[in-house]
Amino acid sequence: MQLPVISSFDRENVDSATFSSGLVDNFNRPITYLRLAVTDRCNLRCAYCMPENMRFLPTKELLTDDEIMRLVGVCAAQGIRKVRITGGEPFVRRGIMDLLWRIKETSGIEEVHITTNGVLTEPHIPELQKMGIASINLSMDTFDAERFRDLTRRDEFAAVHATFEALAASAIPLSVNAVIMENKNTDDVIAMSEQTQSKQFTMRFIEEMPFNGGTHEFPTLLWTHDKILTTLKTAFPTMMALGKADNTATADLYQIQGYEGKIGIIAGFSRTFCGACNRIRITAKGTLKTCLYDNGVLNFKTMMRSGASDEDLSEALIRSVTNRFRDGFEAERHTHATVGFDSMSEIGG
Ligand code: SF4
Repeated sequence: MQLPVISSFDRENVDSATFSSGLVDNFNRPITYLRLAVTDRCNLRCAYCMPENMRFLPTKELLTDDEIMRLVGVCAAQGIRKVRITGGEPFVRRGIMDLLWRIKETSGIEEVHITTNGVLTEPHIPELQKMGIASINLSMDTFDAERFRDLTRRDEFAAVHATFEALAASAIPLSVNAVIMENKNTDDVIAMSEQTQSKQFTMRFIEEMPFNGGTHEFPTLLWTHDKILTTLKTAFPTMMALGKADNTATADLYQIQGYEGKIGIIAGFSRTFCGACNRIRITAKGTLKTCLYDNGVLNFKTMMRSGASDEDLSEALIRSVTNRFRDGFEAERHTHATVGFDSMSEIGG
């Protein structure tokens, strides 16, 4: 099933009720959450995400601040209430703090969250707290300095760990996201969970996903949700299941008895949570993805730079959301049969 390329907009087919009643997809799932990548650039080189010699987009190919604000406005007008700022690494984008304030102050946007690798984040924490950032996901696959260097191919452990400590001590809700990979950091499942004994944060383990820009074969021995859970239960027999934070959440939550923090597991490859999916993505080059596993359904940047109005953008958004795949498997089957997967830094996670 080839998705229709959104080129012309027959306004008659989009009744006014649909136009303003909030985004609901063709499986009756309300779409209220935008994951917005503000750059594809990154100051780390995580092996599961990109090649060492990653070629980033020319600046002119990235969305400008004003283009980003137009898209956030259009999405908010259509019912998007939560925005997660991703990348690449958001804090390498020049003027990122001013952009965050503008997004935070957009009418209709209720929550702004950030995903960061922590290299440049620490100095901004007081202002992020003042801004009322709803939560921060810190991507950190180990608390071991040497293993960090091996996994990221950069010597930034000290800066990232300082960000972790500062965030754990701040009032901003913190999750640490670690991708678990065979022969790489499986020992960290226990070690990183131990940190939740005295610190109030959520340690989340994520299944590896194929978004590595074709740098390597997707692993045959995947550390699945169940394998991570069994490992944790064996090490922490008093660990209790807490369920999900809400029905659209991707993480299954747990807590070890007497520990301050929580543990989460995200079945990113097994895709067990698509039934309540409430999210769309806009990549740093302006591509709309209605599923992480699709290959992009239209390019908003091209539309804006060809003179499209906000109403045109809204209709394209509605048309795309009402033409979604049922789940990540269907999206993968229909779009990646012959095309490899982009690097996660090009998608925004
Ligand atoms: S895989 Fe696609 S459908 Fe499933 S939760 Fe992720 S974005 Fe939604």
